[in-house]
Amino acid sequence: MNTIWARSLVSLVLLSVLCAVVGVLIGVKAALILAIVVLLAQGIFSTFHKQQLWRLLDAPVYGEVPSAPGIWGEIYYRLHKLAKRWHAQVRQVEQQHSRFIQAIQASPNGVAMLDDHDQIEWCNAISELHFGLDAKRDLRQHITHLVRRPDFVRYLNTRQYEEMLIMRGMGERRQHVLSVQVFPYGDNRKLLLSQDITELERTDSMRRDFVANVSHELKTPLTVLAGFLETMRELPLNDAERARYLELMEQQASRMQHIVRDLLVLATLEGDSKPPSEQMVDMRAVLRHLKDDAETLSAGRHRISFDVDEGLTVTGVETEILSALGNLVTNAIRYTPDGGSIHVNWNTHGAQATFSVIDSGLGIPAADIPRLTERFYRVDRSRSRDTGGTGLGLAIVKHVLQRHDAQLEVKSEEGRGSTFTARFPALRTARRQPAPV
Ligand code: ADP
Repeated sequence: MNTIWARSLVSLVLLSVLCAVVGVLIGVKAALILAIVVLLAQGIFSTFHKQQLWRLLDAPVYGEVPSAPGIWGEIYYRLHKLAKRWHAQVRQVEQQHSRFIQAIQASPNGVAMLDDHDQIEWCNAISELHFGLDAKRDLRQHITHLVRRPDFVRYLNTRQYEEMLIMRGMGERRQHVLSVQVFPYGDNRKLLLSQDITELERTDSMRRDFVANVSHELKTPLTVLAGFLETMRELPLNDAERARYLELMEQQASRMQHIVRDLLVLATLEGDSKPPSEQMVDMRAVLRHLKDDAETLSAGRHRISFDVDEGLTVTGVETEILSALGNLVTNAIRYTPDGGSIHVNWNTHGAQATFSVIDSGLGIPAADIPRLTERFYRVDRSRSRDTGGTGLGLAIVKHVLQRHDAQLEVKSEEGRGSTFTARFPALRTARRQPAPV
């Protein structure tokens, strides 16, 4: 600023000196006229430049380059280029920022950013769900005013975040389990990450239950076997007693074998890829097998009838289909007292193919029906054991049917009988050419 004033003063002094010299040379009048002309020219000159400056200030930063003569044209051009570059950079940063926000929003985990006073700076939608927050309303709110659980407040205040905090009873219905961990960053800021581990906890507890059940199921026959062995070693037995004990030991060993066999079947089913949808099952052979097995197992104690559409078949793995449908038929025989009836139906219902086993047996209480396909679930433990059951049959049926896109439906009335139906969808059903006559 000082330089501008100094320059203006110098030019004024120089102009005065020039006027004085010109006045001496060409007379005062002429010199005055010259001075007025020079001042006018300077006025026009500075007005022009001021105008250009205002145009520059008023011009839209990202619009067209304003046209101007001489140096102003160049200034406009260069400034415009600079502004365009900045604009592009700002847009790039904005896009990166929005992509970053989108990525965090897409995360299946909750992410909340807390400032150095543990106030919420930002949180994603999952974090809102996990902690019952509202990203807009709760901005700048202290997190412990909103998540008031003592375990969470304690965890946040201890400032030891190596371990994660498990919070049960979270979410809208208080049924969720969260694993929560804080990661400090920047100037005393915190990243609060949360993960819904409800499903993980459920499968973990199912796994524990399963191991406990398997151990229990194997422990019982093993204990009985060990008892018999001890008796045989310690007591003097006659031939008949020895034969009886051996028979009982054989029964227990076979029970264990059945359990292990069914467990292996389940493990294989879980690990196998989906059955092919183009491979047709020889349903005629399967149905023949089922009929033979049913008659052998029943040994004339029941009335057994089959009503089947022989041309109808499904696609998938024949051995699996045979084992699943076979389980339904043998269950009907095992849980139907002597003299009862068992009817098997294999037909189409609309676009579906249905396999039904209708028995007039013991029936199942309504409360037990939803749990029948759980591993080792039995309605009547002693009957299941007496008839050589493992409690895994219907679990296998459910798995096989699921793998074949089919569903199991159970209808039953206590004391009147049950109907087990396997429904195969249209995409799994097929028709075989009739056998040549
Ligand atoms: P299990 O080896 O004990 O038969 P399943 O998984 O095949 O095991 O069946 C589970 C339980 O469902 C059985 O213990 C039995 O109580 C009941 N159940 C299965 N089928 C029938 C049926 N047709 N009638 C009555 N109860 C049945």
